[in-house]
Amino acid sequence: MTGSISGRCGAILVALAVTVPLAATMTSSTAATPATTGQRSSVCDTRGPIAASALVDGVSGCSLVGRVVVSGSAAVVVPRAGYGVGADGVAGAGSSDAASLQVTNLDGVVRATVDGDAAPASRGLAARAAGACSAGQFKLASGRHPWGKVLSWRYHRPSEPKRYATGKALAHIRAGMTNMRTARNDCNRTSNLSARARYAGVSATGPGIRVKGSRITCGKLNSRNVVGWGALPNSLLGWTCYWWGGSGKMIAADMRLSTSAKVVTAIPGSCTQRYDLQSLATHEWGHAWGLGHVSNPNLTMHHFLPACSTAFRTLGLGDIKGMRQLY
Ligand SMILES: [Zn+2]
Repeated sequence: MTGSISGRCGAILVALAVTVPLAATMTSSTAATPATTGQRSSVCDTRGPIAASALVDGVSGCSLVGRVVVSGSAAVVVPRAGYGVGADGVAGAGSSDAASLQVTNLDGVVRATVDGDAAPASRGLAARAAGACSAGQFKLASGRHPWGKVLSWRYHRPSEPKRYATGKALAHIRAGMTNMRTARNDCNRTSNLSARARYAGVSATGPGIRVKGSRITCGKLNSRNVVGWGALPNSLLGWTCYWWGGSGKMIAADMRLSTSAKVVTAIPGSCTQRYDLQSLATHEWGHAWGLGHVSNPNLTMHHFLPACSTAFRTLGLGDIKGMRQLY
């Protein structure tokens, strides 16, 4: 179920201004022992959250629908048969955990895919453009799951931090949507994508994403597609939950943005550890459209947002290729 990765980075230019500890735990579905698929697992007889590692080879023989699956900060609810769910975030400096988690319930087998995203090494801040336009790396979130219909979404205004001027934050979130949907770039690449979106107005209901302690849980499948705000653990700046159906098409997405004062709509002249909302939104919309994380720090789908930079408002070559693959 892993997506394709095409190409590798050329020159490494820079994304992060601040040192981040190399502490992320790498877990790979390929590292697990095979041959448990189809067997009744001991998780069938337990209650409470299931470690994603127990599902990497697939579990059948009992219904796990509705059970919570956990990997690091990420948690999702096992969807009904024929569906898949994924969770991905983006972190700022100081985070060691930007893991992504996907769980599918297909052909009687519940399976988890966990991608650990190691924190990047410290680098100085420099121009991005050249590296972004030559780095062709991309990843699809969990196989190819494009939206087969218009991505119609709403905004949960009540959770918006009061520090934003009226309409300002939403304008940047909408701009982020347009950036990703149209593959806006500085690489002289034209894109004629079929991705269609519609802003459907404010929502009285927040996104189906719960945070308790250091755990972020994507709730049950819902089709409201809401962007809202809230606290996020572990220096995470944004989190997107997305669902796809048996047809292979993406059918729902919810997004939670960090209420941290580190998230700003304009980079201040003297800047440390501030993160551009529009760049953040552009990245998160990438998840909603079906993109996963890449290791190249020049690309917008890198799992760490550069501090004090608006660079991720535009897409790099790999981001464009990924959207083309989907749309
Ligand atoms: Zn992300």
